[in-house]
Amino acid sequence: TFKALVVTKGEDKQFTRTIQERTIDALPPGDLLVRVRYSSLNYKDALSATGHPGVTRQFPHTPGIDAAGEVVSCPRGRFSPGQQVLITGYDLGMETDGGWGGFIRIPAEWAVALPSGLDLRESMVIGTAGFTAALSVLKLEQAGVRPSDGDILVTGATGGVGSIAVAILAKAGYRVVAATGKSSDEPFLRTLGAAEVISREQLTEGLERPMLKERWAGVVDVVGGQMLVAALKSTRYGGAVTCCGLVGSTDLAMNIYPFILRGVSLIGIDSVNCPMEPRLQVWERLAGAWRPEHLAAIAHEVTLEELEGQIQTILQGNMRGRVVVSLP
Ligand code: NAP
Repeated sequence: TFKALVVTKGEDKQFTRTIQERTIDALPPGDLLVRVRYSSLNYKDALSATGHPGVTRQFPHTPGIDAAGEVVSCPRGRFSPGQQVLITGYDLGMETDGGWGGFIRIPAEWAVALPSGLDLRESMVIGTAGFTAALSVLKLEQAGVRPSDGDILVTGATGGVGSIAVAILAKAGYRVVAATGKSSDEPFLRTLGAAEVISREQLTEGLERPMLKERWAGVVDVVGGQMLVAALKSTRYGGAVTCCGLVGSTDLAMNIYPFILRGVSLIGIDSVNCPMEPRLQVWERLAGAWRPEHLAAIAHEVTLEELEGQIQTILQGNMRGRVVVSLP
């Protein structure tokens, strides 16, 4: 048996989270069995853990969209026993029991061999949030945004995706402007490499106007709603804006002027079903040229028992950096 955090739905439709002993036999079918050493907490995990039907509908359930550990068995031979692997996205932690337990069983196609340059724990400090940040930077790069073009805005900058985006962009040579709701975290953002820190209000000032002054060569947005509108309205001619998150809102209420008068591009980011080729490319970058400098400062490690408080923190928008979950 192994320990796992299990979310159950009561007759009163309330969701409760308990640490239980589970058996490998009860895991979902799949041809890759992994002994999980580390997982992480993403915003989506907090939604799953509190019963949000947009993420998980079947309970009892073990969340954890990220996992890293050693292969126990892989009969089709894609991976060998003892090999270190990481998994992010696909159905892990959604309807498939995820990384908040000592073992996972999944289709081998979901796993990535741990790239050299990262250990298991570091790969989970990065996790889905960091992967999404890196994929966003890759898409900006592919859209032709270069460090010499000007400032890059990161919204939700102290959160998981935002903090790693700041670190990667700074490492890649971009000048980063971090927008945050937490003015007291300016030193944290500067440590990660932000050249300037602005408030959410500074970004959205004058939002009722059809367009705003041109400021950003590129944007990594994790918030959506008005922050994304403000970002699009203040992106410079020919610039690009990536959109991955909805912590602010899923709405995008605006005109099309930035697109037709300034040639601005809006680029959607999906980490979940990202195909294997760009997926491997992103992990290679994360383990090499884009390896965030301050993984230790970004991460904060918890046990399964300690997750409860962190789930509430992330749902309230108060998270700073990344939470790594260590499995017993
Ligand atoms: P997180 O750690 O909670 O970070 C979100 C940050 O956004 C917060 O720390 C906060 O930063 C800011 N924020 C929170 N509530 C806000 C509000 N109401 N208005 C404005 N800003 C707010 O979450 P995460 O794990 O980084 O995920 C961020 C978003 O990306 C989530 O919506 C998540 O679902 C999404 N995501 C999408 C993908 C994908 O594949 N598309 C992958 C990963 C994550 P400040 O206080 O610094 O402003």
